[in-house]
Amino acid sequence: MRCKCKNGLMERSVKPEHVEDLGGLVVKVLNAVVVQRCSACGDEMIGIPDVQGLTRAAAMARAQIPERLTGKEVRFIRRALDMKQTDFAAAMDLSAEHVSRWENDHNGVGGASEKLVRHNVCALLSDGACEYDPKAIASMVFVPFPEGGIAPIEMVRVRTTHRTNEEDDTMWSEAA
Ligand SMILES: [Zn+2]
Repeated sequence: MRCKCKNGLMERSVKPEHVEDLGGLVVKVLNAVVVQRCSACGDEMIGIPDVQGLTRAAAMARAQIPERLTGKEVRFIRRALDMKQTDFAAAMDLSAEHVSRWENDHNGVGGASEKLVRHNVCALLSDGACEYDPKAIASMVFVPFPEGGIAPIEMVRVRTTHRTNEEDDTMWSEAA
């Protein structure tokens, strides 16, 4: 493919690391982001495969990290589930006002609700391929959300262990 500068060709490579803000949650994508870079002007085009799958896998990974969920993260997780506030509230057996309050408060969920939300989110996002350990959540001891935020969650493409009808047999997973 020729670059729009007309002086070079776009060369394809895979970035070893790429940090991406998914809108409320930052991930570090390992060996999966495709870069098309012009050999002449250095212009870059970045392609992230299956952003929706990445968002879902990252939300599930976040639900299993003990730092307390912030309001922004609750919103991110709700969007990963592709739910409106009212749908999310119904799924979590809460009022829409309650969810709205969570999302607008930096301190987020807190209390017993936080475990319930994490359980529900993982259950709703797990698709048989992406596993989670309910016991780990049940026995989780929450820690405060750190001042500077949590480290980007490292995500990789892995082979699916179950059959799919799709040509692409890879999916997103948190890096081991
Ligand atoms: Zn160029």
